[in-house]
Amino acid sequence: MQPSVVIVGGGAMGAATACFLARDHGVCATVLERDPSYARASSALSASSIRQQFSTPVNIALSQWSVVFLRRIGDELAVGDERPQIGLVEAGYLYLATGAGAQALRANHAVQRAAGADVALLSPDELRLRFPWLAVEDLALGALGQSAEGWFDGPALMQAFRCKAVACGARFVAADARGFEIGGDRARAVLCTDGRRFEADAVVLTAGAWTAPLAAQFGSTLPVAAKKRDVFVLDSPAMLPHCPLVIDPSGVWFRPEARGFIAGAPPRGDDADEAPLDAVDYALFDELIWPALAARVPAFEALRVRSGWAGYYEMNAFDHNGLAGALPAWRNVYTACGFSGHGMQHAPAVGSALAALIVGGHSDAPALDALSPQRLLDNRPLIERNVI
Ligand SMILES: Cc1cc2nc3c(=O)[nH]c(=O)nc-3n(C[C@H](O)[C@H](O)[C@H](O)COP(=O)(O)OP(=O)(O)OC[C@H]3O[C@@H](n4cnc5c(N)ncnc54)[C@H](O)[C@@H]3O)c2cc1C
Repeated sequence: MQPSVVIVGGGAMGAATACFLARDHGVCATVLERDPSYARASSALSASSIRQQFSTPVNIALSQWSVVFLRRIGDELAVGDERPQIGLVEAGYLYLATGAGAQALRANHAVQRAAGADVALLSPDELRLRFPWLAVEDLALGALGQSAEGWFDGPALMQAFRCKAVACGARFVAADARGFEIGGDRARAVLCTDGRRFEADAVVLTAGAWTAPLAAQFGSTLPVAAKKRDVFVLDSPAMLPHCPLVIDPSGVWFRPEARGFIAGAPPRGDDADEAPLDAVDYALFDELIWPALAARVPAFEALRVRSGWAGYYEMNAFDHNGLAGALPAWRNVYTACGFSGHGMQHAPAVGSALAALIVGGHSDAPALDALSPQRLLDNRPLIERNVI
């Protein structure tokens, strides 16, 4: 008999897990999603970029596996003759550092090279040669991902996982999980606000920024909260050949999108939990992002903000890294949350590895041991320094 797996949250993580369970292990999960419009889901509001430039080896490994999967998406997630397209652009990430940040960039680069990532350190002269549109006077160093980094259509990836999962037998149900039936060290069923009860041999908590209150019902304190991040859509006549996703030393980032650009920055001041998503902070653009962009790319002088949106990072305050694997002390409760702004790119690898973990099967995706929530109890943070 197939185990009955109930997944709470049908964003990229939940949909990927359901997809690999069904496609690779023949286990048809039930995915409970309280908002099938995904209006506030991070996966619908993501900048959906992928990089190798992390400071922790497990994140590099997850990206390396995921980018190969993304390149083959049409084959991997085909449903009949329908081959999903996600518009993967491999234009790289470019981290820029002044003298103050150069040492950290070098240290991260050593970790990345050791993990086989195709990242090159560039001097200001080399930066000027490759990107003549970039102001380099104040810079000491740049780190450029030369392959396997870029961006894609994240919501399309989520939908492709969902469609493939359903085609392989998974079920997506509109339902708001509110609690669990528990027996000993096992979850027995998921209970929903409308009174429905879903019996479960295994429960997976992939509720993104809203996972912590669910895990709390199992006595697990996950330090994961919803932190609003703004993205600005820019119109600009600037032509920036070979423009990668650029991260300025100020923390401001930008990249091409369609015929214009998108940009963002870390928040200023109080980073409140679950700040309203309809309050895009346009002052952040005027006061911080715009001056940084104009200084870094003189051709941006004439740019205009066309629109903006905000979404939640599911931020893990402990170490800014994903929490993926079994909940400590529970035999059949799993989670994948807290990816702190890099969960879209890791959904393929994490979904594959988690599905294998749940059924005791095989996946060639990187093992999730380093991301186990057990590290919270052991007080062993795995700090990711490259959080954008
Ligand atoms: C502005 C922005 C930019 C980003 N940029 C990048 C990037 O460049 N690269 C990258 O890799 N990542 C990026 N991310 C992060 C990435 O989008 C997330 O890590 C990823 O989408 C998380 O997916 P998820 O499935 O865990 O969460 P979500 O997509 O939030 O899905 C969780 C789902 O759970 C549902 N849910 C919650 N509670 C319940 C419940 N009780 N019952 C039933 N359903 C429930 C929610 O409705 C939601 O649909 C960005 C995020 C934002 C907001």
